[in-house]
Amino acid sequence: MLAIKEIQFVDLSRQYHAIKDEIDNALQECLENAEFIGGSKVKQFEKEWAEFLGVKNCIACANGTDSIEILLESYGIGNGDEVIIPAHTWMSTGEAVVRQGAVPVFVDSHPDYFTIDVTKIEEKITNKTKAIIPVHLYGLPADLDPIMALAKKYNLIVIEDCAQAHNAFYKGKITGSIGHSSSFSFYPGKNLGAFGDAGCMVTNDDEIADRARMIANHGQTFTNGVIKKHSHTMSGRNSRLDTIQAAVLSVKLRHLREWTIMRQKNAKLYSELFENTGIKTPAIPEGSTHVFHLYVIQVENRDQLVKDLSKRGINTAIHYPGILPQMKAFENSGSHLLQFPVSQVYQHKILSIPMFAELTEDEIKYIAQSVIELTR
Ligand SMILES: *Cc1c(COP(=O)(O)O)cnc(C)c1O
Repeated sequence: MLAIKEIQFVDLSRQYHAIKDEIDNALQECLENAEFIGGSKVKQFEKEWAEFLGVKNCIACANGTDSIEILLESYGIGNGDEVIIPAHTWMSTGEAVVRQGAVPVFVDSHPDYFTIDVTKIEEKITNKTKAIIPVHLYGLPADLDPIMALAKKYNLIVIEDCAQAHNAFYKGKITGSIGHSSSFSFYPGKNLGAFGDAGCMVTNDDEIADRARMIANHGQTFTNGVIKKHSHTMSGRNSRLDTIQAAVLSVKLRHLREWTIMRQKNAKLYSELFENTGIKTPAIPEGSTHVFHLYVIQVENRDQLVKDLSKRGINTAIHYPGILPQMKAFENSGSHLLQFPVSQVYQHKILSIPMFAELTEDEIKYIAQSVIELTR
């Protein structure tokens, strides 16, 4: 066995040290210019990210959760409206719906891919349904073609939750460019992460883009993307991106493609090492690329394995230990007693093992070998 002392679940310091000069220069510039909120660096990142995705508009905001909420509000989705979301996702997706006064309607997961089971969406559509928020969970695109077809048939809005899927592809198209609009988080641990909270909304719909920008900036109007000060036409909110975060994101964006390939290479090695060992590894459907925000295995003795791995210095996590409809927070959503047979079962088996671009081959082998030994 290799002499490895401790492996972080995500080690962001390695990434920083790999691009230290670029980052330090960008930060220094912000300090010298005394630019802290908005400004030219935010404009520049918005432009670069929109170009990267091939969409017309990118509106930076304070975090990914806000971006979902602001998009819902931009479409006028609120009181009593129903929004279809996966049962198995991070809190934000459901929380944003509730915060807008709308009702989250939960759908079970696909048995192989963890993303929303598209065959179970139509039965949940009512005359109150206004939107679907597919989540590209763990970095794998949800099956968007049938979702877009349902949206067309029932006149619904599709908001992609891309918080875990920067630079993922679905049938040749980059995620974030397929739905009517999309939400991104740049939380530090995401595949493209800032040095604090950060997020954005993207859309080809100019009207929605203007509304979103207005809501995120105290309801002030805009001319050519520039705030008209004290021109509050509605009560909005304060959800802005810091200049420093934009500067960091612009630097990191230059490395995103390379980092994606490194993650995919790490995932491939894990999957090869786990072959024929009884450990269930992530499946990737034909036509999709997986960007492995998380590498999630399924094992029977999960809780014991977590403890045993930790004794060997291997840090793991569970995404997520509970499905949303069974949380107290969604008690009043009318979904508490419903069954979600697929996600309810794998919820007890899923385990996220260390995954980031800079993991070394030796570390991956040590982790895989440990998992195999400890599940035998
Ligand atoms: C991280 C995340 C968000 C929200 O991002 P924040 O920037 O932390 O607010 C939303 N949805 C999913 C699926 C996420 O993983």
